[in-house]
Amino acid sequence: MSLTRDEQSAIVIRQMNEIISCAKFTCVCKKVVRIILAYRCLYCGVWMCQRCMEKHLGMSRVDYNKKHYAKDMVK
Ligand SMILES: [Zn+2]
Ligand SMILES: [Zn+2]
Repeated sequence: MSLTRDEQSAIVIRQMNEIISCAKFTCVCKKVVRIILAYRCLYCGVWMCQRCMEKHLGMSRVDYNKKHYAKDMVK
């Protein structure tokens, strides 16, 4: 998912207002997400649901776990 700088800051500003007023925000997929179930990108500051964040980072949590914890899973 690629956003221009202007789009990114518009999204972040809108989301911050939503979070302050109701602890929810509108994800880039148009879904309304509660803040406790959301993730904020370290790089662009945009809040997203898990699914969008996985796409945004190009890796699902399952992939990440396989990649980083494969050794730990051998028991
Ligand atoms: Zn989403
Ligand atoms: Zn990002």
